[in-house]
Amino acid sequence: MPDAGHEFALIDRLRSRARAHTWLPLGIGDDTAALRLASNRDSLVTVDMLMEGTDFTFPPATAALAGRKSLAVNLSDVAAMAGRPRAAFVAVALPRERGSAFAVEFLDGVIQLADEFDVAIAGGDTNIWDGPLVASVTVLGEATGRGPVTRGGARPGDWIFVTGRLGGSLAGHHLTFTPRVLEAQKLHQAVELHAMIDLSDGLASDLRHILDASGVGALLVADAIPITDDARASNDNRTPLEHALGDGEDFELLFTVSPEDGQRLLDSPPVACPLTQIGEIRSEPGCELVQSDGQRQPLPALGWEHRFASPQSSGSG
Ligand SMILES: [Mg+2]
Repeated sequence: MPDAGHEFALIDRLRSRARAHTWLPLGIGDDTAALRLASNRDSLVTVDMLMEGTDFTFPPATAALAGRKSLAVNLSDVAAMAGRPRAAFVAVALPRERGSAFAVEFLDGVIQLADEFDVAIAGGDTNIWDGPLVASVTVLGEATGRGPVTRGGARPGDWIFVTGRLGGSLAGHHLTFTPRVLEAQKLHQAVELHAMIDLSDGLASDLRHILDASGVGALLVADAIPITDDARASNDNRTPLEHALGDGEDFELLFTVSPEDGQRLLDSPPVACPLTQIGEIRSEPGCELVQSDGQRQPLPALGWEHRFASPQSSGSG
């Protein structure tokens, strides 16, 4: 077997460390993998590309944390559909100058999280080059019997909920978060989830995706929004609330349910993580934020923006 400085050796390592799964009759080692996902349910497919300098920097990230995050962001997307992740395909461009130990550590970070969530590493492509780390992971999953939860099902009168706490993710949470896969399934089982999304770009931005897809508006209660200690501790010129609305990479779940189901969730939460009602869906378009003094203002346009540089813009938000 060639040493770990060789691309083939890295694939061998993935293969030897990958566990057997009943839904993976053919894993790494042939021209394609063969999957046997549930035939009576939708298959869920998602892909995300992460880049050194944008999604992680070394330090504070380690190779293992970068590997972990490369898979975790995809698991979070499957969670957002209330699905079960089953298999992952890992394509990575590894920086030559960081050496083979970095490559091995990166892959181990992926494998460890895959094992945690019983996800098969079904394929991979490892390249070594003179550029920075770039990782693209594709995850396949299965919808549960109740079907995938989309962004488009929010109805006027729905209560808006969020899991966990928001803001300040850059302090470390974005590298170490646990995707809410199990929580999503438990919520899906307990109540009828009308619409759901995972918070990657920031509450203000991701809520708009639900509102746009559902053709509705919303009222958010500023005081109700759960804020992390990291957001409160941040001593830049932004308030903790602004961090919670705009930071992004919380990887929490944002979802809407009927008021009856919402009350059920508050009375007997099916998950151990915090569950907070932060507002309400209404039929009028747009989104307003209600302050503690009762004043309403349009939800500020905060959040990560994906766009090209232009003479008028600095490129990121
Ligand atoms: Mg998402």
